[in-house]
Order: sequence, then structure tokens, then C-alpha cells
Amino acid sequence: MSSSQSSNRPVAWGPRAGVPRDDMPRTLAGQTARKLRQDIIQGKLQPGERLTFERLTRMYEVGSSPLREALFQVAAEGLVHGEDHKGFIVAPINLGEMMDVSSLRAQLEMFAASLSIEHGGEEWETRVLSASHRLKRAEVALRQAGPEQRRAAEDDWEQRHREFHYALCSACGSPWALHFFDQLYDQLERYRRHFWQYAERAEAADDEHESILQAALAHDREKTTSLLKAHFQKQAALTTDAMQVDPQRLQEISSPAMRGEEAGGASATKPAPRRGRPRRVA
Ligand SMILES: [Zn+2]
Repeated sequence: MSSSQSSNRPVAWGPRAGVPRDDMPRTLAGQTARKLRQDIIQGKLQPGERLTFERLTRMYEVGSSPLREALFQVAAEGLVHGEDHKGFIVAPINLGEMMDVSSLRAQLEMFAASLSIEHGGEEWETRVLSASHRLKRAEVALRQAGPEQRRAAEDDWEQRHREFHYALCSACGSPWALHFFDQLYDQLERYRRHFWQYAERAEAADDEHESILQAALAHDREKTTSLLKAHFQKQAALTTDAMQVDPQRLQEISSPAMRGEEAGGASATKPAPRRGRPRRVA
């Protein structure tokens, strides 16, 4: 594969056949799956929460057929669990799962970034540089955000953080690697959303991202992968610490509690309240 092929042109095969993830899905089921995925990742739908058709058809204003398809789609990604004769629940969260996903994501990104460094040309470098600049701006906005703007600033930081890491991997030439990148990123983002103090971690991560950027632009594979490895290890350690700050909360969302069941599903019509954030983790 030549460098121009792998770094600059969309690939016409693979899970998405070259369609960027951010493109709006064409089918109603795909659009519903996208909203459902986002609501689970961002914690609007809580781990273990029962997902009734009645509630979701109202929430997303769709019929039961596209909704069923959307639920199966998101279940295949591990964010929803289907239970025999009991319907669907939001996947519970679990420390072991977080560690597993984190380790796999580190391996995949080191692999993909390494290939990108080998094949990536000027366009790839520009993509990485531009994504890095956007991420830095989001970090500043996050630091300056008041309570009212914090949620939007966190959303923005997550999006740009994803774009930066994706850009690093984007010249790897493997659509399957990029497909799994998105799935693993989704999983870890959900853990961050539940447990992180974003402003503090984003500020600390800024220097790490800058070092990764410089090593990648210098096409130093060894340095880039070792910085990425340290970046992921730190992220996993911080998330682990944060998860253990409130053991009661952790236990509550680690088991499929079927919240709302005792009230015949009625309490599932509104998201469970978000508990107070854990103490500073870094
Ligand atoms: Zn990062």
C-alpha cells in the first residue's frame, strides 16, 4: 500500500465502507441507534436502567420496529444488554470491563498510530496538527467554563479528544482498526462521563497530548507508542481511583438493578439523578 493511498483517501471497504462515523445515518433505525448510543455514553440513561419500548418510542419519536433494530444495533456494541423475556437494560458498568477495554484500546491505538506514522504523509500530519489545536482550545474552554457551561464544554472536549486520537490513527490503512477504535472509545468515554472531574484531567492530559503530537510529527514510532502506552495507563489508573471513591455508587451501577421495575417501569421515564461528582482524582 502506498503512502498516498493509506493517508489521504477514504477506503471503500470495511464496516463503514469509507463513510465517516459523523455522517448522519440514512435509516431511521440508524438515527435512533445514534441517539440511544449517545444518551447511554453521556449518562442520560443510567447503567442498569430498564429500557422499555413505551418510554423509548416516546423519547425518540419512532415506531417499535426501527426502535427494536436500534436496540439490537447498540446491544451488538455492548452498551445495551438484552435479557430473555425481560427486555433490554443499559449495560451495567464494571471495573474489570473498564480495565479490559482500556488495555485493548491502548494496544489498538499503538498499532494504528504506528502504521500511520509509517504511511502518513503531509495531509495526515496536517490532520493531526489541526485536531491537536482544536483539542487545546477545548481544554482552555473547559478550564474557564462556569457551572452553566460545564456540560457543553465537556461534550466539546470529548468530541475533540476523540478526533485527535482518531487523527493519529487515521492513516493506518485499516478500516477495521478504525471501526474498533470508535467502539472502544465509546466504552471508555462512558466511564469517564460517570467518574471524571473533566477540567482537572483535561488540563493534566494537555501536556501528554502535546508530547504525543510532537513525537508523531517527528515520525518517531517508538516514542509515540511509548507515550501512548503511558497515556492510557494513567487514564486507566485515574478512572480506577475515581470509581473506588464511592463504593456504594459503584455497586449500584455495577449490577443490573432493573431500576424502575418495582414501579412498573414508571420511574424509568426520567433519568436517574446524577450523584455528586467524586473528589478530585488527579
Ligand atoms: Zn488522550
